[in-house]
Amino acid sequence: MSDSLQRFLLEGTPVRGEIVRLDATWRAVLERRDYPEPLERLLGEMVAAGALLSATLKFNGALIMQMQGEGPVRLLVVEVTSEHTLRATAKWEGDIESGGIQTLLGDGKFVITIAPESGKQAYQGVVSLEGDTVSEVLEHYMAKSEQLDTRLWLASDANMAGGMLLQRLPEHPEYDEDAWNRATTIGETITGQELLTLSARDIIHRLYHEEDVRLFEERPTAFRCSCTRERVTVMLRLLGREEVQSILTEREHVEVACEFCGREYVFDTVDAEQVFASEFQTMAGFTKH
Ligand SMILES: [Zn+2]
Repeated sequence: MSDSLQRFLLEGTPVRGEIVRLDATWRAVLERRDYPEPLERLLGEMVAAGALLSATLKFNGALIMQMQGEGPVRLLVVEVTSEHTLRATAKWEGDIESGGIQTLLGDGKFVITIAPESGKQAYQGVVSLEGDTVSEVLEHYMAKSEQLDTRLWLASDANMAGGMLLQRLPEHPEYDEDAWNRATTIGETITGQELLTLSARDIIHRLYHEEDVRLFEERPTAFRCSCTRERVTVMLRLLGREEVQSILTEREHVEVACEFCGREYVFDTVDAEQVFASEFQTMAGFTKH
């Protein structure tokens, strides 16, 4: 099954794994923007990595992974919810040469944010961009933030994004401790082609047929953008009345396109008045207290 996450465990060992295969989900990201080829591959790997990482965490809300750079590619963002829906986008300038992260982004930062659903404190971790592939950057992040030992293998093309994650659970007296080395050594033999063409079960069978594997139920993934007119309204308020007025004088309406899904939100003069009228009410509400 495509567009799904498959969790597995090697019984009696500290090794757990996740495999993700994104088909329509990934194409829904690509349909919305024409990415240069090297950037498309990077974004696909990042989308797969985001889905894998979100599957290993217990949280309610959104996991946001960002790579920020100073090269021709400025930003890659992937947002995955605890319901396994995701959206992604990238910002770049000019022509993009083929190459890895150091060529495309150069010096930069890798940021992971966990934004809980309702009013709870968000968590954010930041490290420098180290490594030339998405899996190297992520493995560096996991090591640096003293998370569980984690290995990733990722691949993407114009139709499919896929990957495998292995994680080493905390020690237990009954665990076969050599299993982690064994599982990662065999993991090294998986090819990008296999990640993009084999089903999750076939990948697990191909790698771990000598192990006692426990398979969990597959969880479906899908593309979904969380943008709303309300959020655009908040953004326009941040932009300020003066700025919005000056756009309105030029064009009679303000158009805001969502960078993730391309949906357009249009505000005419009357709508814009309401944006700031409700802001005034909120502020008036504040002064009363
Ligand atoms: Zn959107």
